[in-house]
Amino acid sequence: MKNKPSEKKLSEICRTCGARCCRYIATEIDTPTCKRDYDHIRWYLLHETVHVFMDHDNDWYLEVESPCEYLGPDGRCMNYEHRPRICRKYGADDLNCEFLSEDEPHVIRFSTATEYEDWLDDNKVKWRWKKR
Ligand code: SF4
Ligand code: SF4
Repeated sequence: MKNKPSEKKLSEICRTCGARCCRYIATEIDTPTCKRDYDHIRWYLLHETVHVFMDHDNDWYLEVESPCEYLGPDGRCMNYEHRPRICRKYGADDLNCEFLSEDEPHVIRFSTATEYEDWLDDNKVKWRWKKR
């Protein structure tokens, strides 16, 4: 198990990382198992700034790049006292920030529908609907 860095080191890490955790939202989605699910993910990925990824627990997430409106130009939270609970629980202090991990934070991550379709094809998944 990794040793926890000092408070000073943690603050330095957050200060220099560019506040990556304040620049997107991610919400868990159902693991895709049928044509309808595959099609929904294709639809998500046809939109700009949307990504879909699977984490190390094999859970699937929809990610949308969008900076928080409380994020200041210096990378600090401008409403720190009233930041949401999810922000309080996430971060370098508890070492649960995925960006601090030595591993890639995602097992797999898609940014375009084409990437996802290629991955489905490579895995011999039947995702195409009959044309009408
Ligand atoms: S509320 Fe503050 S800590 Fe939370 S995402 Fe926004 S800027 Fe970051
Ligand atoms: S918690 Fe992680 S992503 Fe967020 S500012 Fe700190 S190092 Fe960066």
